[in-house]
Amino acid sequence: MKKLAAIVLSLVLLSGCTAACAEVKWDFAVPLTQLLSDRAMLVNRDNLLAADYIPENLVHATVRCVSSSKIEIRKEVNDALTQMFADAQLVTDFTYQVKNSSGNWVQKEFQDASGLRLTLKSGYRSYGTQKTTYSNYLARNNGVDDGISSPPGASEHQSGFAIDILSVSYNNSNQYMNDSFYQTPEAQWMEANCYSYGFILRYPKDQESITKVPYEPWHLRYVGREIAGYIKVNNLTLEAFTTLWQQKLKDFQTAGGDEQKQLLLESTQKNSSMESTVLDEYGDDGDAEISLAF
Ligand SMILES: [Zn+2]
Repeated sequence: MKKLAAIVLSLVLLSGCTAACAEVKWDFAVPLTQLLSDRAMLVNRDNLLAADYIPENLVHATVRCVSSSKIEIRKEVNDALTQMFADAQLVTDFTYQVKNSSGNWVQKEFQDASGLRLTLKSGYRSYGTQKTTYSNYLARNNGVDDGISSPPGASEHQSGFAIDILSVSYNNSNQYMNDSFYQTPEAQWMEANCYSYGFILRYPKDQESITKVPYEPWHLRYVGREIAGYIKVNNLTLEAFTTLWQQKLKDFQTAGGDEQKQLLLESTQKNSSMESTVLDEYGDDGDAEISLAF
């Protein structure tokens, strides 16, 4: 009898351990660390930023700007923009599309030794500034809210992650910002390449029913390269992406996944990949001494 009880007890313990000890894996393509950081946050009319929300690490943009007035953005956005502006300027030959007089799209060739020249039009806007911008817009638009200007708290510009970019020539032509900007080589290059720098085109064409904002070829949002890559490959809006990853997180938690453990694991993996990068710099054998010679 004792023997039977011992066997039953072992089985119970064993099955308990199996359930508790089975590691629930985070199997979504984007690390949880990225998704739980500010850079993934969704800001829109249903997800408002508080009036006192001010982003961390705001710096004055050091890239080309439309005017001498200082534009503020987050430091990581400024770093990514610096690289994107520099790379754009190396593009001296680029095929893009324009609408001809019959309304058909035709190919056009951009060829200019000075490259594609981007310019920053707008970055961080405080809650107070957005409040003024919105009420001025409504006054100009006969009180009609057509989605182009966001109410205070609903603008991504308050997050410090959103920017408006034009081309130098488009800006110099004094055109009002509208979707005609798409017919410039700069806009089409940005749309195709901004993901490599961690940006998404936040309000894409034909996705207005989801974003509730008209197409804005100049408005980019920084989300980091991992999220931007996922959104690009899967052709999503930030709204759809947020619904997707939040469901993945719920599934993970329901299956017994441990969020804190996963975050710790990701930080360990990040550190070890940083170590291997450092070792790579020392040579194939990982011998640091070769870099330490006087
Ligand atoms: Zn914008």
